Amino acid sequence: MSKELLFCEEMYFRHHYKVKCNLQQEIKINISAIGLQKVYKPSAWIKCLAENLLGKINTFMTFQRILLKNKVIHSVDYKRVTKRNSYTVKYVRHSKTYFGFIKYFLKCSMKCLLPGSCTKKCPCKIANFIAILDEFQVVNDDPLLQLPMYNLPHLIPVLKKTNSQQCCYVSDIKELCFFIDSKNHDFVMVFPNTIESD
Ligand SMILES: [Zn+2]
Repeated sequence: MSKELLFCEEMYFRHHYKVKCNLQQEIKINISAIGLQKVYKPSAWIKCLAENLLGKINTFMTFQRILLKNKVIHSVDYKRVTKRNSYTVKYVRHSKTYFGFIKYFLKCSMKCLLPGSCTKKCPCKIANFIAILDEFQVVNDDPLLQLPMYNLPHLIPVLKKTNSQQCCYVSDIKELCFFIDSKNHDFVMVFPNTIESD
């Protein structure tokens, strides 16, 4: 990673680093849910979306922030934040890379497979953490993008779609990105240093 990019990243994300929070629940190494978790009643559509990913869900809790490698990632629903650069992320769904805004996070407790004779390995013993996102469409075929000023590595032209809600495992959120909206195009800027981290 170049010094310039490193400097940009430091400037953009400095205030996201090293947040201390007492309400912290580890999801995986380097990823934690932070802040209050509240009981949540999802719409039929969100329930369906989540169950398509996870299977039958018993209860939902919602929360607004995660800590990913010492950076706080917010959700759009987190009222104290208005900066799009704290909820724009790169994530993986079905082995493909996507970009989007995080709307909110859900902690899903699964339905018991064998009520009455439940075992330690039953899915009901583990909570699954997912994010509900507004997914962008990546634009590849606009002639404007052939111009040198737009032809920059790590700058990805995107369109905000309508009805584009999706979900992914919180552990499949790869990094915080920088969102840029200009007159004709929106862009996502990706910092290359964290791409290979798994
Ligand atoms: Zn069970």
